Amino acid sequence: AKEQGRNNLCFYRKRMTRQAAQRRDMETRLRQALDQGEFALVYQPQIDDRNGRIRGVEALLRWHHPRRGLVYPAEFIPIAEETGLIRTLGEWVLRESCRQLRTWRHAQLPNLRMAVNISGQQFKQPDFLTVVDRALREADFDPARLELEMELTETVLLHNVETTLRNLRGLKERGISLAIDDFGTGYSSLSYLKDFPIDRIKIDRSFVGEISHGGNAAAIVGTIIAMARSLGLAVIAEGVETAQQVEFLRQRDCFDMQGYYFARPMPAAVLERYLQNIQTG
Ligand code: C2E
Ligand code: CA
Ligand code: CA
Ligand code: CA
Repeated sequence: AKEQGRNNLCFYRKRMTRQAAQRRDMETRLRQALDQGEFALVYQPQIDDRNGRIRGVEALLRWHHPRRGLVYPAEFIPIAEETGLIRTLGEWVLRESCRQLRTWRHAQLPNLRMAVNISGQQFKQPDFLTVVDRALREADFDPARLELEMELTETVLLHNVETTLRNLRGLKERGISLAIDDFGTGYSSLSYLKDFPIDRIKIDRSFVGEISHGGNAAAIVGTIIAMARSLGLAVIAEGVETAQQVEFLRQRDCFDMQGYYFARPMPAAVLERYLQNIQTG
């Protein structure tokens, strides 16, 4: 048994080394990808269901790998976060989304809101506000049009909470909006709604997708909506895919929706054509 254990350990070590090597390769590859312009943003509309208008878009990151083709963030964001590369990548996302919003504003496209995902790793950086200011300097739009989506993760809540809080307050001073992403999952706790200067709660699609399945999801979604309202927070449901889900949300006066039922994420040029066919507000 002892021999067996040693073999297992040896195997384990080898595997760890291989994984570490793969991770390093991936980090190098991601850095190159950034330098070579292989990243792009796609934009998914956020609808006001009362009038069918597009209130805003969420910027979502894509990697166009020269050989593998389209790579989704689930494959590379975790590695970017572990290696710290998310700070550089995240800054690129922020600048690119601000640049895009500025272009749309100048093209007389209506007053869209731009929602940008920010990793906890970025929020806890002492120079985060400097990064934001750099992006805003080129922006030339009302900072209230910019909404940062933050997930309440271990990184945000258990380490550098002071720095995170200072950064969040700095965002508010600049007039930038703040949304809690994936609400109801992970470390979401009600006390943060009190401590953090939040404007909006985003209900995670894992709950929205289960609304009609007869489990607890419907009750949870209903409760989150009611809670948001009583706290004076805006609320948006993500991952809306069916008419049934739309109806459920409508009945609870949650009219801000995002999901495949309305539109998929799309490249800027496609979104522009899409917007031209739809009245926005
Ligand atoms: P998220 O912030 O929860 O974003 C929503 C995800 O759900 C997106 O996946 C979106 O394409 C997908 N989605 C939207 N509507 C529907 C629907 O009706 N049904 C289903 N099944 N899915 C829907 P995506 O683009 O693959 O992004 C995955 C995650 O990667 C995001 O989850 C976010 O956490 C992260 N991510 C994406 N872009 C960025 C970024 O620029 N920075 C950071 N830090 N994270 C990002
Ligand atoms: Ca998000
Ligand atoms: Ca997210
Ligand atoms: Ca989500």
